[in-house]
Amino acid sequence: PITIKDVITVKDMPATCASKILEGFTPFYDAHLVQRLKEAGAIILGKNNMDEFAMGSSTENSAYGTTRNPWNKDRVPGGSSGGSAASVTAGQCFASVGTDTGGSIRQPASLCGCVGLKPTYGRISRYGMIAYGSSLDQAGPLTRSVKDAALMLQVMAGHDERDSTCSQEPVPDYLAALGERSDLKGLKLGMPKEFWGQEGMDPEVSRVMHQAVDTARELGAEIVDVSLPLTDYGVAAYYIVVMAEASSNLSRFDGVRYGQRDKEVSELIDMYTSSRTKGFGDEVQRRIMIGSYVLSAGYYDAYYRKASQIRRLMRDNFVDVLGQCDFIIGPVSPFAAWEIGELTEDPLKMYLMDIFTLPVNMAGLPGISIPAGMDANTHMPVGLQLIGKAFAEAPLLAAANVLEQALPDLAWGEDRFDAFKLQTT
Ligand code: GLN
Repeated sequence: PITIKDVITVKDMPATCASKILEGFTPFYDAHLVQRLKEAGAIILGKNNMDEFAMGSSTENSAYGTTRNPWNKDRVPGGSSGGSAASVTAGQCFASVGTDTGGSIRQPASLCGCVGLKPTYGRISRYGMIAYGSSLDQAGPLTRSVKDAALMLQVMAGHDERDSTCSQEPVPDYLAALGERSDLKGLKLGMPKEFWGQEGMDPEVSRVMHQAVDTARELGAEIVDVSLPLTDYGVAAYYIVVMAEASSNLSRFDGVRYGQRDKEVSELIDMYTSSRTKGFGDEVQRRIMIGSYVLSAGYYDAYYRKASQIRRLMRDNFVDVLGQCDFIIGPVSPFAAWEIGELTEDPLKMYLMDIFTLPVNMAGLPGISIPAGMDANTHMPVGLQLIGKAFAEAPLLAAANVLEQALPDLAWGEDRFDAFKLQTT
């Protein structure tokens, strides 16, 4: 029993991307990864709520209402794959599939206390994934354990000729890789000083992170200091690149080809304008406007080209750092799950929540979020992130599996159900 984020097509099930503009659209084909899951015996239970077109970090940007965090119904589940994370955490399914353009698998996994894996760019075909930022988008599993994530990746990974960016790299045996490691001896974990010294980071998140690093050390890992000097530019560069791509990708929703059309107007241009104005939510419209602006003739060099150059340097930094250590270890989100409505008036602050996740997409690398402990003030889960070299999912999963066993069991032990009962009675 599997649930699927509503940005991925499942034959004969509506695909809305949580947008009114796709209301009434039912795809007639399965995404490559859905086809693979079905072939492996999966039953697709339904589609998950999300931020409209995967734009957001809290699932509050959905045209169909906000998803609530199963640990505390007044708090956000994270986003944009918030519905996927909530469905796994609430025990509604064995696993879910989300997409991660700047953190949308890892961040909701962290905020809901489940496991979220963003594979290397190109590891899973994007065929049937409705595009947001095509050069960053990657699907991946949200699960109750690292082992389940390995199982899901095994089924979904591999070449597909319908996606020209899908890799030909052979798919290793991920489950077998888990069996090959029982501690972290011989591994170097790099702590980027820019990830650990962030002023804006919640002290409780910081405490849980330092405990997790101590655990890694006890398991035999060597902890080394590394530096990712462009971290502070990441958010700005990412939002320029992703909005530019989104403005282009979303031009296909014109009221003609899919979903909603405003039939009240008679002129073509009016029909485009009116269908898009009524169909897209505020955040999507904001991003289309900014994206069109940074690509326009007069501003392309100043914004888009500059951001692309920063992206390239960010990637080079990661390659350099991953030459000095096996994995990067760090937080997923500077805060545990916040209250519904707390950040909706401040998009810029919401964008800053992605500071630790989006560099991984800019570099195309694999990253995993695993539950590391509880924030003692909010009583919400906190996730830990491990980042690996391109196509090194097997060793990444193996290391995450060892850490998962040693870290406090918050997600699937008795505690979770007690916490859940307290919320509901
Ligand atoms: N929060 C980020 C954004 O809004 C990431 C979203 C995602 O990964 N889909 O762009």
